[in-house]
Amino acid sequence: MAGGLSRRAVLAALPLSTSLIGSAVPGLARAAAPGLSLSGKYVQGGWAIGRTAPRAVVDVDGQVLTTASADGWFVAGFDRDAPPASTLTVSTADGSAAHEATIATGDFDIQRIDGLPPEQVTPTDPALLERIVAENARKALGFASQADIEGFRDGFVLPVAGARRSARFGGQRILNGEPKRPHYGVDLATPVGTPVRAPAAGLIVFAETGLHYEGGLVLVDHGQGLITAYLHLSKILVPAGTYVRQGQLVAETGKEGRATGPHLCWRMKWRGRNLDPSLLVGAGPFRA
Ligand SMILES: [Zn+2]
Repeated sequence: MAGGLSRRAVLAALPLSTSLIGSAVPGLARAAAPGLSLSGKYVQGGWAIGRTAPRAVVDVDGQVLTTASADGWFVAGFDRDAPPASTLTVSTADGSAAHEATIATGDFDIQRIDGLPPEQVTPTDPALLERIVAENARKALGFASQADIEGFRDGFVLPVAGARRSARFGGQRILNGEPKRPHYGVDLATPVGTPVRAPAAGLIVFAETGLHYEGGLVLVDHGQGLITAYLHLSKILVPAGTYVRQGQLVAETGKEGRATGPHLCWRMKWRGRNLDPSLLVGAGPFRA
């Protein structure tokens, strides 16, 4: 998918502190550098799933972001606003391998609205602000989870059946010239009480109702720090700490929190990057 830069050129482009090539001393016998095979959707909001040496360190654009599983599998994600190229480097004590991926620009719904009267939508009540800060801290712990599991290898299915997609990932409104925070989810219009099923196996790492923005929120870690989120839930059926299999019932949809109507807002994050979960639906399973 992407043109291959030579490994030397890629390594030369990385900051010295991130290139783990200490074993590449001339004259010393050394084991083979790790292999690297990848499949993915190389677009803003997209993903890559790769196979390399067990426990190889995975570096994306000069940042160590994950470690391959005991079987050598790993996940990487490309943010909604990812730059047009991304370098994935895998390293072991025996050397490293790299791949430079060209990241296509995402096709996002951008809506410009001008001439609006200034509005006040940011909360100012101190008690509410304090509550939002506390909720954000608890959510951040969930999003930081990195369970040593490989739920992502089954591939992903939709979490609700037969729903109309009412908003795509990545949409953004520009109000009076000011870009607002993009929509980081896929909205699936559903009646309240529609069953939400795990789209892939994983570990429930957050399950709370009554959040200011999200209402009922569940976060599922599918391994490698690949986290899916389910917002505005009316009912949560499995507590945090539960392992779920693909298709297992975890919650019911609702319109709790800041929602204009009943729907499931489905999100995906990897190491702080916002991904489009629909780009993984139908991909996989990932096998040797
Ligand atoms: Zn949404």
